[in-house]
Amino acid sequence: MSFAIASAPVSRRTALRAGGATALLAATDASWLQRLLGLGADGDGPAEVFKGDAPGEATWRRWAQRGWAREAAHYVKLGRNVQCKVCPNNCILAPGDRSHCRNKVNRDGTLYTLAYGNPCTFHVDPVEKKPLFHFHPGARTFSLATAGCVFRCLNCQNWEISQRRPEDTKDARGAELRLRAPLPATLTLDEMSRLSLFPEDLPGVAEALRCPSVSYTYSEPTAYYEYTLASCRAVRAAGRQNILVSCGSIEERPLRELLAFVDAAHIDLKGFDESTYRQLNSGRLAPILRTLKVCHELGVWFEIINLVVPGYTDRLDSIRRMCGWIVAELGPDRPLHFSRFHPQHKLEHLAPTPVDTLLRARDIARDAGLRHVYIGNVPELEGAEATFCPQCRRPVIERTGFAVTRNVLVGGRCPHCQTAVAGVW
Ligand code: SF4
Repeated sequence: MSFAIASAPVSRRTALRAGGATALLAATDASWLQRLLGLGADGDGPAEVFKGDAPGEATWRRWAQRGWAREAAHYVKLGRNVQCKVCPNNCILAPGDRSHCRNKVNRDGTLYTLAYGNPCTFHVDPVEKKPLFHFHPGARTFSLATAGCVFRCLNCQNWEISQRRPEDTKDARGAELRLRAPLPATLTLDEMSRLSLFPEDLPGVAEALRCPSVSYTYSEPTAYYEYTLASCRAVRAAGRQNILVSCGSIEERPLRELLAFVDAAHIDLKGFDESTYRQLNSGRLAPILRTLKVCHELGVWFEIINLVVPGYTDRLDSIRRMCGWIVAELGPDRPLHFSRFHPQHKLEHLAPTPVDTLLRARDIARDAGLRHVYIGNVPELEGAEATFCPQCRRPVIERTGFAVTRNVLVGGRCPHCQTAVAGVW
């Protein structure tokens, strides 16, 4: 719903005098209200949303019948508008609008997610691919994602799903197909687009595929929060583990609720400057730092990845500040993975990160006191992804690509000097 008042130059005081915030929120264009009231997390206004882009009646009906549309968690009603409180984008949606992450819509004053039980992709991966190097090395993890993301990273490697609507990756027409054990030998593309995978079926699927854990990954689990949370509950209840692979941009309340069911996390720390975060990712640094501190406080095992993008996140002074912050706030045992950038998405014109830059970043991190520093995406660099004993410096886990080739840890301790190595073994 859009009104002429949306473009009128009205001051906040005048608008509030004219009828009160609640009445305005119920009756006017949400994007105008965003600017007018300056609502949003951390002093920022809410993110841009897709005006009038909610699915039409026929698609909505099919989506609802299939169980792919559910009322969202963590939102507030502002008259007929709604505001999502899952991530710091804090989208405000008028009826008929679609959220910044593309996964949520306001239908008649209620916020719904369209990304429930309808993953657009899933695979069995080694945990090393997340990457997690200090969490059950060599274990398999069932990994899934839906469409949508809360960020707009210029370098996104999964933009074909992260920058898509759920309806662009799934099709609720045709016969219903539900993935559950016993599993079919193969799936066609058509079957994949129609397929449901509901939280209650996940533990059986993971068991059939010999995966002790489920990973919420590839796009952004915050953008499919309701599905992630329900899945984590079901998987935990069945005695399996949950791995969160996230950009970390999430509000504190939903984060704490989710972490109660998470066993390990991989959090992207994409840089250490607010301006770079805005420019490269259309996100904010402060909420990510809060997420890292909450993970640490709650004792969830997590590792940090930092993609070194030439011209954006390769400034050594910034890397130095980041490493100092990690040591001071999260301790020296927190694994840090520097990752080499390769040209993709909107940064195809850039060259890959020079290996020398990555080596200098690793030196800075080690000088800052970090004990487990890795360099990813440079397979030719010997020992870059090996784990060394923090005391005697001998290799205790060696890897080639995503494969563990040697693991000599005994009960999580170095076999040479018996020093405990941080992690979940
Ligand atoms: S999770 Fe999606 S709908 Fe909610 S605030 Fe973030 S971007 Fe907006």
